[in-house]
Amino acid sequence: MKTAIVNLGVILTGDWREPLAPGDSIVMDEGRIVHVGTAAASQIAACDVVIDADGATAIPGLIDSHVHITFGDYTPRQRMVGFLESYVHGGTTTSISASEVHVPGRPKDPEGVKALAVAAMKCFENYRPGGMRVCAGSVILEPGLKEQDFEELARKGVWLAKAGFGAFDTPFDYAPLVRWAKQHGMITTVHTGGASIPGSSGIWADHLIAMQPNVSFHVNGGPIAMPDRDFPRLVQDTSIALQVCTAGNLRTCLWTAQLLKDAGQFERLLVATDTPTGSGVMPLGMLYTISHLASLAKIPVEWAIAAATGNNAEVYRLNSGYLRPGRDADVVVIDACAGGSQDNALDALRNGDIAAVAAVVSDGIPRFVGRSRNTPGSIKNVRVAECKLPRDFSGSSL
Ligand SMILES: [Zn+2]
Repeated sequence: MKTAIVNLGVILTGDWREPLAPGDSIVMDEGRIVHVGTAAASQIAACDVVIDADGATAIPGLIDSHVHITFGDYTPRQRMVGFLESYVHGGTTTSISASEVHVPGRPKDPEGVKALAVAAMKCFENYRPGGMRVCAGSVILEPGLKEQDFEELARKGVWLAKAGFGAFDTPFDYAPLVRWAKQHGMITTVHTGGASIPGSSGIWADHLIAMQPNVSFHVNGGPIAMPDRDFPRLVQDTSIALQVCTAGNLRTCLWTAQLLKDAGQFERLLVATDTPTGSGVMPLGMLYTISHLASLAKIPVEWAIAAATGNNAEVYRLNSGYLRPGRDADVVVIDACAGGSQDNALDALRNGDIAAVAAVVSDGIPRFVGRSRNTPGSIKNVRVAECKLPRDFSGSSL
């Protein structure tokens, strides 16, 4: 399938160092971006679907690197069906599991945690709710796991590991398991801050420095943050990616972004939601945190969007997250909210508003065009300009 988005006002690349791409169109073919810039008329004429953005802004599909996945499009904690599809309507096209810790009766023995990770990973290889790409199967580190278990998991395709909910006496005991997981090529993530599950203990800078994971999950608290003195230590004394979450402490979220900006290491900032949790199901959570960073922390809005796209893609080695040829064809068109005080999406976000999601394309397929079920209707006339396929893409959803 060939899809084009034309008449774009702004194209953001997802790269904080070079955030703007010149031109007004994006062409996609068979799930990949093939052209970003000014497309030839013949290129557009060859497309099956052409979306007219009417001057709105294109950003890479958002990557939420902390989603509480279980199985299917269902969250047992909040007992809600269809949340992932709803997140697509909030502009998130990739979800990364924070480990399948919310599965009722989750196993804690080595065979159980391995089986859970393998099963979750394999289920979501075949299932994209609403067009969402779900990276699932994050093994929960528990006592008893041996190095050969990580070799086995890696051989079976599991590439995520999560420390923080295991029955260890002290968080320092995670260190060898994190090391083994990294040695076998896995991305290691660590719950940071106060305990969020009874029986697990708080995890602070000393623990993270001993573990050296790839990612400090919700460094701004999930939802209880570390002591303030720990933040500059993590920024200055480590190269760990620092994930800030919507469902955390807002003050330390903004501060973390500022510390990384001042350190010239903005690529280490990852935006995520840490939902669904007690804080709720938040389809617009990624846009909320982008808006908070752009309006309250004086982070350039283009950088805040990069932290939610390209930065996550780099750390998690994904092919999405950038609007560049060869990357996954995940594109979100955003606009100012109808009736708002700003007339384009980036100004709206700088103002602290939530931009409207006007269209989402994932894997090169338009998922909806014109009206998201989660945001107010666009003030612009984002619409399907041409469709050569038998399906009707002109409605509010597909
Ligand atoms: Zn979480």
